[in-house]
Amino acid sequence: MAKIIDGKMTSTAVREKIKRDVSKFTEETGKTPGLAVVIVGENPASQVYVRNKHKACGEVGIYSEVHELPESINEDELLALIDKLNSDKKINGILVQLPLPKHLDEEKVLLRIDPNKDVDAFHPVNVGKIMIGNFSFLPCTPAGVMELLKHYEINTSGRHCVIIGRSNIVGKPQAMLMLKENATVTICHSKTENLADITKQADILVAAVGRANFVKADMVKEGATVIDVGINRNAEGKLCGDVDFNEVEPIASYITPVPGGVGPMTITMLLKNTLTAAKEQYK
Ligand code: NAD
Repeated sequence: MAKIIDGKMTSTAVREKIKRDVSKFTEETGKTPGLAVVIVGENPASQVYVRNKHKACGEVGIYSEVHELPESINEDELLALIDKLNSDKKINGILVQLPLPKHLDEEKVLLRIDPNKDVDAFHPVNVGKIMIGNFSFLPCTPAGVMELLKHYEINTSGRHCVIIGRSNIVGKPQAMLMLKENATVTICHSKTENLADITKQADILVAAVGRANFVKADMVKEGATVIDVGINRNAEGKLCGDVDFNEVEPIASYITPVPGGVGPMTITMLLKNTLTAAKEQYK
């Protein structure tokens, strides 16, 4: 039976610390860290994420504003808003909620964000800094995974970490963060051959695939730590991860549930990045 890595509890503990740090920062500088979230269109999932981010900011004392733009907005108008936020002194972090509607060039929009305010760490300047291990911000989801491991005192040094998924948002930065913590890292993806042979070697297995119940018991080594980043709906419409929890839980030593594992950590790391951005900008 695996120990459950409780993302909600960990997230609460980390947010309490962030709240104390924000309060100390405000006392010392007379400034309040500020986050601007930009959402285009009416994607219901994105609207929920944005509402949760706004609420979480309020709970730890971070000022936040939400810019809700109609689906019909053109690229120049969106870029003009980003320019305005880039030079707005009360805004330390800018986040553009993805995905954007098809007629907007995501890369162009993300490139326009001042790297010092890029609290999602998607700008190539920040991606490059992560590659050389000298960074201000870490992408929120992989950073949340590292925070969970730290909280549960799960050692990464010298251990084999296998990551399934090579996206720019999760898989690749996750590999860099694991490497920085001295893990031996293997990245698997949709073209990987004999996937189970590789995943079975993992001391720490991170699944970031986006397919419900993809990781089965015969893909996991006895006693492995299993981190499930996936957020999917199963055939019954129920929220589930990439890992078949019922099959894998009996053989893992630690496992994250979905929901309640990695998910709650993502917004927490955004709060942390916003405070870091404010500290750097008011230094
Ligand atoms: P993505 O679609 O960009 O990447 C999926 C990756 O899985 C790809 O690199 C692909 O090569 C790999 N893959 C697909 N099929 C495979 C197969 N058969 N075998 C091996 N690898 C395969 O997705 P993403 O943005 O990285 O997100 C992955 C999952 O994580 C999704 O479910 C997403 O909803 C979730 N997610 C969760 C959070 C969070 O806050 N918890 C944040 C971001 C993403």
